[in-house]
Amino acid sequence: MTEFDPSKMWVELHLHLDGAVRTDTLFDVAKRRGLSLPADTVDGLVPHVSMDKPGKIAAMFHAFQTLLPVISGDRAAIRRIAYELCEDEAQQGVVYFETRYCPHLLTSNHTGESGDDPTVAEVVELVNAGLKRGSKDFNIQARSLLCAIREHPEWSHEMVELCGKYSSDGVVGVDLAGGTVGYKEDANLPHIKAFQEAESLGVHRTIHAGEVGGPEIVEEAVTQMHAERIGHGYHVLDDEDLYQRLKKDGIHFEVCPVSSYMTGAVQTEFSQHPAKRFAKDGANFSLSSDDPRVFLTSLARERDFVKENWGFDDALISTLNLNAAQACFLPEADKDRLVKHIQSLQ
Ligand SMILES: [Zn+2]
Repeated sequence: MTEFDPSKMWVELHLHLDGAVRTDTLFDVAKRRGLSLPADTVDGLVPHVSMDKPGKIAAMFHAFQTLLPVISGDRAAIRRIAYELCEDEAQQGVVYFETRYCPHLLTSNHTGESGDDPTVAEVVELVNAGLKRGSKDFNIQARSLLCAIREHPEWSHEMVELCGKYSSDGVVGVDLAGGTVGYKEDANLPHIKAFQEAESLGVHRTIHAGEVGGPEIVEEAVTQMHAERIGHGYHVLDDEDLYQRLKKDGIHFEVCPVSSYMTGAVQTEFSQHPAKRFAKDGANFSLSSDDPRVFLTSLARERDFVKENWGFDDALISTLNLNAAQACFLPEADKDRLVKHIQSLQ
């Protein structure tokens, strides 16, 4: 039986664990491990692990290239970032969140097979432990999704297996992340197979699609890979028939407003953002921060952002929050309780 904190009401579904690491934690861990950083102070480190202007994808890659080696392969750090994310989310009134990560990328050599490094499965256990303790200490519900990576089709099957193995330990679904530039359907076959397997095993599925890539990637995600939710999905609007079909089927779009401008996924005036069309049509979507520390945002800031720039009002924001609860990957009974909890506060 899951109880939800009556003082908290927000739900966040699209939140990368490695994009949410506190800068002072990075600083601390690097010092303890004797790793060199591009700056000698926490404040000096911020510009190296974040971006404050849109469109500079290189800055985003630089941020992850700087922060990942600090955390990767370090048991205490992996547990700590999961724990601290619970605190950060609880502090902004989040009652339930799903955080996602690729366990391979948190092993030191990205295979987890040498020396005393944590294995891929151990990384999952460390994150589970951090989220479990954080949930208890900060009175919040936290679950996780494991990310398969487009550039690494050889990991996808294992990701689905791990989702099954740890389903009673807080892992509630599988995601597909990574780049879609130069995407070819053939190269995607192992991912397609893995997601079909996920569906047959009852593992929930979300897929990054239609962010920078076109609507054909969204179509494949939904039709062949049985995605229940789409990460971003903005370019679904480039194919009106597909958009109408997905809208009718109630496919959920995890919209990340600040991220969509920062990455250049959407290059348009505020008034033309795809999410404004989603809102006008009553499509099923919600708001998330994606990589809050990298994009210098938070779920609370995303709400301010859409009020200021897209003219969203409080009633719409409440609806989007309820959409998030209804699209979450909790087991049905827990999901019902979450939905009722939110309805009781609105
Ligand atoms: Zn994402």
